[in-house]
Amino acid sequence: MKTVNIAIDGPAGAGKSTIAKKVSAELGYIYVDTGAMYRAVALYLTEKGTAEEDIPAEVKGADVSLKFVDGVQRVYLGDRDVSELIRTPEISMAASKTSAVPAVRARLFDLQQKLAKENNVIMDGRDIGTVVLPHADVKIFLTASAEERASRRYKELSEKPGCPAYQEILDDIIKRDYQDMHRETAPLKQAEDAVLVDSTKLSLDEVVAEITRIIRERI
Ligand code: C5P
Repeated sequence: MKTVNIAIDGPAGAGKSTIAKKVSAELGYIYVDTGAMYRAVALYLTEKGTAEEDIPAEVKGADVSLKFVDGVQRVYLGDRDVSELIRTPEISMAASKTSAVPAVRARLFDLQQKLAKENNVIMDGRDIGTVVLPHADVKIFLTASAEERASRRYKELSEKPGCPAYQEILDDIIKRDYQDMHRETAPLKQAEDAVLVDSTKLSLDEVVAEITRIIRERI
């Protein structure tokens, strides 16, 4: 049976995961957060203290897998659930660096394609529409200004202790965008046949409605 594949790409903090989660629940698809896979690899390499030149060899030992509990993705390294551990600013930056290494991307590529072949998926990331699922049924490129993305993240984090300053969050976002867009392998860019959605001036509900409309129109 042919599965339905929906690709959502875009820069850090554009709201891809929040939106993909809602839309996938509505459609009954599984939501695959590929960023979490890169984060899990980054955690693995960080914990091992791997030097940059050893990444291609060491990444072979990273046993990343996903489990879906009531449609919600959990990320595993071996049999350890690392879903929460990977959500720190340090791992965000480490993931952005290690994801530029072709051996790291090759390791996750097969796993991502397999998931899409076996399930109806909404998959989010940076290179899903361009590299991982070039024949996806729907491709969306979701973006927002760096300032808006930083201010959303700041609001989200400000309720927790140890929240970084707004400027620090903005600087991290700008740095990560730059790294993700300028790497040689699978850089972040809009696929030619992707629909651009700019969420800078839209509420969460408006973005969900717009993306659901685009998807329903095409499938
Ligand atoms: O989406 P998230 O911010 O969790 O991704 C963390 C990092 O993983 C990104 O900054 C990016 O460098 C990398 N990534 C990637 N390709 C993907 C998904 C994430 O390179 N498909």
